[in-house]
Amino acid sequence: MRQPARALTIAGSDSGGGAGIQADLKTFQELGVYGMSALTAATVQNTFGVQGVYPLPPEAVAEQIRSVGVDIGVDALKTGMLFSGDIIASVAETVREFGWTKLVVDPVMVAKGGSELLREEAVNALKERLLPLAFVVTPNLPEAEKLAGLAIRNDRDRREAARRLVDLGARHAIIKGGHAEGPEAIDLLYDGSRFVELSGPRADTPRTHGTGCTFSAALTAGLAEGWDVVAAARRAKAFIQAAIEDGIRIGGGHGPTNHWA
Ligand code: PLP
Repeated sequence: MRQPARALTIAGSDSGGGAGIQADLKTFQELGVYGMSALTAATVQNTFGVQGVYPLPPEAVAEQIRSVGVDIGVDALKTGMLFSGDIIASVAETVREFGWTKLVVDPVMVAKGGSELLREEAVNALKERLLPLAFVVTPNLPEAEKLAGLAIRNDRDRREAARRLVDLGARHAIIKGGHAEGPEAIDLLYDGSRFVELSGPRADTPRTHGTGCTFSAALTAGLAEGWDVVAAARRAKAFIQAAIEDGIRIGGGHGPTNHWA
């Protein structure tokens, strides 16, 4: 009998199925790892946007993590929407308790439609409590600016932001280039000494809902299988590239990316 690698996502639910915990579990499944979830909040959401956010109590988040941790075990894990400083504190404490090292932090802040998925008061908790535990942090450009505290106007700024994220305690930073312009979407990976650029042609499509979740889940799946960060990031980049190019027609608003390998 096969014993699959095990991956846990600690994130919000997207009832529309395009982002959040749903995107993570679909991606884990496509990449052959066993997926588990600890829900932080339910969002009321479809392809038109987010209509409601209902966070869970922080103890409920910690209890879900502990329950799967003591029984099934976790080879790698990721965080997505965490919403409040209290939930972040509870997640950080539980991750420390288990001593898990392969933690991917996707610092989800706002949905593409503008809804707040992380309260303003929680940004410091994310920096102070969670980044020091992160094996990889995967911000997009606006998230990197917020966490690093600088405006990113060019490649030099982006490298400085990556250095600051590593100074805040993350072992690796991947600053994604999806929000930049130009024919290539370039993600910048920094490991504290070396920069690696992951580049792919930019796809011209509005169907990008859930791309950040899907990328970080694919990265987590690779780490769960024991891949090194660069190999896992390259595979995640290829996976998200194909998913964006091969968008699906779902709903009346901005559709999601797909999650098929
Ligand atoms: N909803 C949830 C629950 C999420 O975790 C995320 C992830 O970033 C989003 C929505 C945002 O989706 P997007 O900004 O890709 O539309």
